[in-house]
Amino acid sequence: MKIAIIGAGIIGVTTAYELAADGHEVHVFERRNSACEESSFANAGVVSPGYVTPWAAPGMPSKVLKYLFQKHAPVRLKFPLKHGELGWMRQWLKACKPKAYASARNSLQSLASYSFDCLQHLTKTLELEYDKAQGYMVLLRGEQELAQMQMSLKLLTDAGLIHKVLDADAARKIEPALCANTDLHAAIHLPNDSVANCRQFALLLRDKAQSLGAKFHFGTTVSHIQQGLQGIRLNHDKNDGEHSFDHVVVCAGVASSELLKPLGAHVPLIPVYGYSVSAPVREPIDAPISGVMDERYKVAISRIGNRVRVAGGAQIGGDPARINQAAIQTLYKVLDDWFPAAADTKGQTANKGRGQVQVWMGARPMLPAGPPRVGESGADRVWLNLGHGSSGWALACGSARLLADKIAGRKTAIDF
Ligand SMILES: Cc1cc2nc3c(=O)[nH]c(=O)nc-3n(C[C@H](O)[C@H](O)[C@H](O)COP(=O)(O)OP(=O)(O)OC[C@H]3O[C@@H](n4cnc5c(N)ncnc54)[C@H](O)[C@@H]3O)c2cc1C
Repeated sequence: MKIAIIGAGIIGVTTAYELAADGHEVHVFERRNSACEESSFANAGVVSPGYVTPWAAPGMPSKVLKYLFQKHAPVRLKFPLKHGELGWMRQWLKACKPKAYASARNSLQSLASYSFDCLQHLTKTLELEYDKAQGYMVLLRGEQELAQMQMSLKLLTDAGLIHKVLDADAARKIEPALCANTDLHAAIHLPNDSVANCRQFALLLRDKAQSLGAKFHFGTTVSHIQQGLQGIRLNHDKNDGEHSFDHVVVCAGVASSELLKPLGAHVPLIPVYGYSVSAPVREPIDAPISGVMDERYKVAISRIGNRVRVAGGAQIGGDPARINQAAIQTLYKVLDDWFPAAADTKGQTANKGRGQVQVWMGARPMLPAGPPRVGESGADRVWLNLGHGSSGWALACGSARLLADKIAGRKTAIDF
């Protein structure tokens, strides 16, 4: 079949590969000039089935209220919120109920575990070489954080995911560069989980998809999806390009809702902005070996090849073109707390940050309940692979395989 994909982020690229591997004629339309230039550009790189959790969780609403008054808040609301953001928050509140949370978390974890296996399989069979490191640790600064993790620990045990609760000494043996002056009460170690370079992987997989015949049309913005008796017509800004398809898959990240609206497919998706700072490793001995997450500030610090990346912040509302300096200061604070000598962040550059530092703002395509939409849209021949929120990299390979199986009418490996 002739299938169009809109968007070449990590979700679009993995979808293109799986559909091309199934023998379809695949055309990917991407408004940017390369793959992974938007939300998939510089994420934290965490691929941790054990830590893929819905944002909508019991206790979160009161936490978000408290965060309004904190300097280093993990979640920030930028008022006034838009109409769509208020509606999203209402649905999110409903999804925070314990039963809804447990169900969303189970779905996410099963997709994340499947996706992890798919990622390993692709890496091995296609011999993909990209920056990655094994092991992930959640750092708990105080007793309260450990107490709040009890429900998550039970779900990890129920899901059969290998993990261990460590005291501070044991955690420091795994990540010896963790600063001794910062209080560490305990840690949750997930030895099989990992951090890896999402964009690097996507560019390698794009090459593999191309070698299977997939065509990437970069610099091409799709303005409209039209359904006809014969199939799908895409309106885009290249008059001479391909326009008619049997099916279309929408993988347009935060732009997906607008594309789907005229078809009557309502997807309550909003951008939740986050930030990362990447800097060259100064001394390997002072840098993380793999990845850690500071649970109090919800900031991840990962080793991405010869760079350290610190990422976090969740901002609802505000200007998508404006970096929130307070959020960047939180990233530097958490980095300085745990790995003060890891990265070369000294010396101000003109526009990007300190030293050879890359400061990045990205928008997580977030649905209120957590799990992404992978499958039919409700509109004939229009498929969805979107709304992966804060775990798009961890969920990409599995979501793409699931979607390819659904389009083929095959039984899927997991019930999602
Ligand atoms: C700070 C931060 C840290 C994160 N850390 C992690 C992490 O550690 N692990 C993890 O798993 N996830 C993480 N994420 C989330 C992850 O990055 C996202 O879920 C993922 O990148 C979403 O991928 P996507 O392909 O759906 O969207 P995108 O990467 O945004 O791709 C969508 C593409 O569609 C294109 N597009 C849109 N509209 C059109 C159109 N009309 N025509 C043509 N092209 C179009 C866009 O240009 C874009 O390239 C993080 C996100 C942030 C912001």
